Amino acid sequence: MNQKITYELPNGITLEIKREDLLHPFVSGNKFRKLKYNVLQAKAENQSVLLTFGGAFSNHIAAVAYAGKEQGFETIGIIRGDELRDKISENPTLSFAQECGMRFEFVTREAYRHKTDAAFIAQLQAQFGSFYLVPEGGTNDLAVKGCEEILTELDADFDFICSAVGTGGTISGLINSALPHQKILGFPALKGDFLQNEIRKFVTNKNWELITDYHFGGYGKVTDELIDWINSFFLQTQIPIDPIYTGKMVFGVMDLIQRNYFPPKSKILMIHTGGLQGIAGMNAKLRNNNKPILVQ
Ligand SMILES: *Cc1c(COP(=O)(O)O)cnc(C)c1O
Repeated sequence: MNQKITYELPNGITLEIKREDLLHPFVSGNKFRKLKYNVLQAKAENQSVLLTFGGAFSNHIAAVAYAGKEQGFETIGIIRGDELRDKISENPTLSFAQECGMRFEFVTREAYRHKTDAAFIAQLQAQFGSFYLVPEGGTNDLAVKGCEEILTELDADFDFICSAVGTGGTISGLINSALPHQKILGFPALKGDFLQNEIRKFVTNKNWELITDYHFGGYGKVTDELIDWINSFFLQTQIPIDPIYTGKMVFGVMDLIQRNYFPPKSKILMIHTGGLQGIAGMNAKLRNNNKPILVQ
């Protein structure tokens, strides 16, 4: 569903947001798209266990835990940070995943860095037996295929499609399914010079660009300005957006509109990729630091 943003937009610009966050309360937005064909593949391979990787507040961990419960898989989460072992009850994402039946293996940040090494995977196989491996963030060919279903023929009129970028899987799907006259703008939520190359692994079209000015200090980092801005966006539109991904992208798009980046009469579509489950964890962190929190 696309929703119009009825701000006073300059230069005859139209702006809409695709509410992928409404696809599902927990497996929201792009994580739902990315898991769809991976779950089918795991079934085709007769696997009964999904194993994946993620950080303390990972939308992907929450999504895999829930999808596993719904689709009859055991799930194992390799979690970055062994200090989290004793803090599950304080962490809304991990508590939710555990309630869905996910088993955790907490590893040090150092060990986690080796998550794609053959030796590390072999060790996990020795420990847990056979499993279907979903990469960190869920990005692989099948995930990109799922994200090619985000845009539909009803979106043909838009000139610009804007999305947050983490590992690059979602934007790759958008790029592959966009029409030749459409330009895809990606807003990385992290400082990531590697992203161009990651995306090129999945796409051949050239009608895309990364806008790297809106990561607010890096992955998972926020500023008081960003939090205040997201809160006022919510008060004006009633649309909740997360501070890790979609919030930074929407901030960026609105800022670029004010700076006349877009030609007059541009039709812009923003993708709300979900991630709202992460707000509770972010607010807990902000409260601990006596910072303004997200209202919604
Ligand atoms: C994971 C995530 C992204 C990033 O998607 P990638 O495919 O990794 O680029 C964007 N938005 C939200 C809400 C996410 O959870």
